[in-house]
Amino acid sequence: MPAANQPTSRVEAVHTRGVGTPIVTLDSVGKVYGNGTVALRDVNLAIGRAQFVSLLGPSGCGKSTLLRLIAGLGDFSSGRIDWTQSPAENQAGDDFKRNLGFVFQEPTLMPWANVFDNVYLPLKLTRLSRKSARPRIMDALAMVGLEKFERSYPRELSGGMKMRVSIARALITRPSVLLMDEPFAALDEITRFRLNDDLLRLWAGHDWTVIFVTHSVYESVYLSNRIVVMAARPGRVTADLTIDEPYPRSEAFRMTAAYNDYCRIVSAELHSSMDEAPE
Ligand code: ADP
Repeated sequence: MPAANQPTSRVEAVHTRGVGTPIVTLDSVGKVYGNGTVALRDVNLAIGRAQFVSLLGPSGCGKSTLLRLIAGLGDFSSGRIDWTQSPAENQAGDDFKRNLGFVFQEPTLMPWANVFDNVYLPLKLTRLSRKSARPRIMDALAMVGLEKFERSYPRELSGGMKMRVSIARALITRPSVLLMDEPFAALDEITRFRLNDDLLRLWAGHDWTVIFVTHSVYESVYLSNRIVVMAARPGRVTADLTIDEPYPRSEAFRMTAAYNDYCRIVSAELHSSMDEAPE
């Protein structure tokens, strides 16, 4: 019999070591903003193919900054970021760096354009005609369950549906790496859970790497097979944990002792990183 207050499952915080051949490697990356804020200091991270990595930490610890730097949006102040060339069978022969999708916290849809045209935008920028783009757009809308809403305008959609459009727009270029910056933070819990499940289903059906920013321990444990815990002032990585639980995961996973134990372990890591005295 387990002693009172002891965990009933046997999960352990496994610190992430090898990731196979990394697709992107960050080496001593630092970022100081123009006003002197040290947003990131000495970040070392190698992210492997098909990983689902959450960047978890309190507000202001540099999660978004780190995600944007990985996306190539903005300069870093020190260190380097190296991308691995993707295998020859990759559709365009591009390196991973040129094959990114980005989903922001706000859906950032064009209010004057319908769902179809919002999703079409990235292809329009590549000068692909609407007619040629149509099959891909309908595919992307089907992936997020919105194939019947191509003519709807953003004002006619719920918050969850707008986020689905935003995800479809990110998927339209068939990215091999999906970068997501707290995409579900503004949604109610039921909608968030549903989108969590849909995201996992999409991830399982493709060979994507997902890098997902969140400040929710529960969301990170549910989704990820790896959690990078960060702390603020200066923004830095304090723990790198493997969530060694099988996929597919469903709502039943939230009820398991293993899920609760992982949440407790990750939460303890997060709190200990926040307790560390800032410089
Ligand atoms: P998080 O995503 O974890 O909330 P951010 O990456 O947004 O953290 O921010 C990290 C730190 O950098 C914070 O102190 C924030 O105020 C600061 N910061 C973010 N963007 C800028 C900017 N453009 N100029 C100056 N400081 C910034």
